[in-house]
Amino acid sequence: MSSQQMTVGWIGLGNMGAPLAARLVKVGYDVQVWNRTAAKAQPLVDEGASVGETVRDLAHREVVFSMVSASKDLEQVMLDPEVGLLTGESVPKIVVDCSTVSVETSKKIREAAAERGTRFFAAPVSGNGKVVAAGKLSVVCSGDEETFQLVQPMIESLGRSVTYVGDGEAARLVKIYHNLLLGIYTQALSEILVLGEKAGVKREAVMDFINNSVMGCIFSQYKTPAMVNLDFHPTFTPILLRKDFDLGLAEARKHEVPMPITNMTRDIVESSIGHGHEQDDFATLLLIAAANAGVELHSENADVTDGLDPQ
Ligand code: NAP
Repeated sequence: MSSQQMTVGWIGLGNMGAPLAARLVKVGYDVQVWNRTAAKAQPLVDEGASVGETVRDLAHREVVFSMVSASKDLEQVMLDPEVGLLTGESVPKIVVDCSTVSVETSKKIREAAAERGTRFFAAPVSGNGKVVAAGKLSVVCSGDEETFQLVQPMIESLGRSVTYVGDGEAARLVKIYHNLLLGIYTQALSEILVLGEKAGVKREAVMDFINNSVMGCIFSQYKTPAMVNLDFHPTFTPILLRKDFDLGLAEARKHEVPMPITNMTRDIVESSIGHGHEQDDFATLLLIAAANAGVELHSENADVTDGLDPQ
């Protein structure tokens, strides 16, 4: 059976899950979705997906993707004895999980899935909802190679790049490393922008130079409207970033690797939550850096782009 003919289930329609599931619908897969807050499924239905009333309604799908918040949430949707996908009468052939979760949780679910004859594949991602919509998502994945070959076309249709890093939980680690860099980079950017602010240099000018230099990157361009115009509409929340720092620092302790900058950044992310930004974008790290310097920032109302709008 070709990948395109396989039936698909999708669990979790948050900032990431909804646009990712929509991509599979758009390229022609038969997709059935489920979300804890049922109302979030309506836009997917409008695009052609069907809806399951329970997680287990998706058990008859050949491949089920999941995209939920944290390790405990993934364990709940997969392994809960009453409602879990992998604990009912029927189970899907393959589960592909895109959430950012711990190695331990991933391994536990892989083992439970194997006992039921389900192949479990890890495919965490880099990008935000708008990145997904623009077709620029990157996926890092791990699991057995045969399963990779079966799901590769589906995963490729989620974005622009797929990096297969081997068997087991390797992709979980690579994704966690990625998010440590994400937080540290954003914190460093925040600090220099506040330094410039105090010296009277516009954030737009600093970002423009960085974006056009070797220090700039696709990500600095993404975050330019946030940094310049204080657009903190959430793409990724500090709560989720703190979770990833905690996963990374647990790895650091396990391997006895000192990570002083990572530790410090984790606490700054925590202080952004303490300052009430838990529902905002994690780029509110800029506001914490400003507050620490006694500076009040205002939008520069500049004509800047995140680089994601269609040309
Ligand atoms: P989000 O917008 O907060 O959505 C979370 C999703 O998980 C929602 O569908 C939520 O259902 C569901 N969920 C949470 N706990 C659940 C539970 N116990 N049982 C069932 N469903 C549950 O988060 P997101 O930004 O989409 O992130 C999802 C995952 O992707 C996280 O692991 C995150 O770290 C990772 N990630 C995010 C980004 C990003 O830029 N946002 C990028 C890469 C990876 P409800 O709608 O009912 O709350």
